[in-house]
Amino acid sequence: MTNIDLASLVRNVPDFPLPGIQFKDITTLIGNGPAFAQVMNLLIERYRGMQLDAVVGIESRGFIFSAPLALALGVGLVPVRKPGKLPADTYQIEYDLEYGSNKLEIHRDSFTPGARVVVIDDLLATGGTIGAASKLIEQAGAVVVELAFVIELAFLGGREKLTPYSIYSLIQY
Ligand code: AMP
Repeated sequence: MTNIDLASLVRNVPDFPLPGIQFKDITTLIGNGPAFAQVMNLLIERYRGMQLDAVVGIESRGFIFSAPLALALGVGLVPVRKPGKLPADTYQIEYDLEYGSNKLEIHRDSFTPGARVVVIDDLLATGGTIGAASKLIEQAGAVVVELAFVIELAFLGGREKLTPYSIYSLIQY
């Protein structure tokens, strides 16, 4: 298998979307076919054999990685979405993020009770997004086996705030 330096393909964009934010742009990573394949192969290798019942993707960059993972594992994909996007009955939660605040929703009937899931987003910053998503997922009756990210901004301490969840990331800053 090829061994590409994935971190070298993440573009750093200073002062986007606000002054002081160093935005980690994954379009340069997923735009490289072999690098995208390596990302997906690493995730598939990790989660194959964990007897998961579903993969949960966080809108919207989480969908890029959660959909191919679900397909490879042979399980369903459950979307956690911004408010007003999911058409049936939802649970909703409000949370703070690195810049601003946001709401997330999940369909109430997303899981069979006790379903074992991995939750995927592109990047872990403060942990606000994935922490809120995890509460929603548990409210909907699933068990969060692990939280997975392509990028972890370790200096922001999101991992510590998410104790006792198990956390996996491919690239750390
Ligand atoms: P947080 O809730 O603070 O962990 O923020 C995570 C969410 O915000 C993820 O969905 C990221 O896509 C996005 N995000 C936060 N900070 C950055 C950053 N520096 N670069 C790119 N995306 C970010």
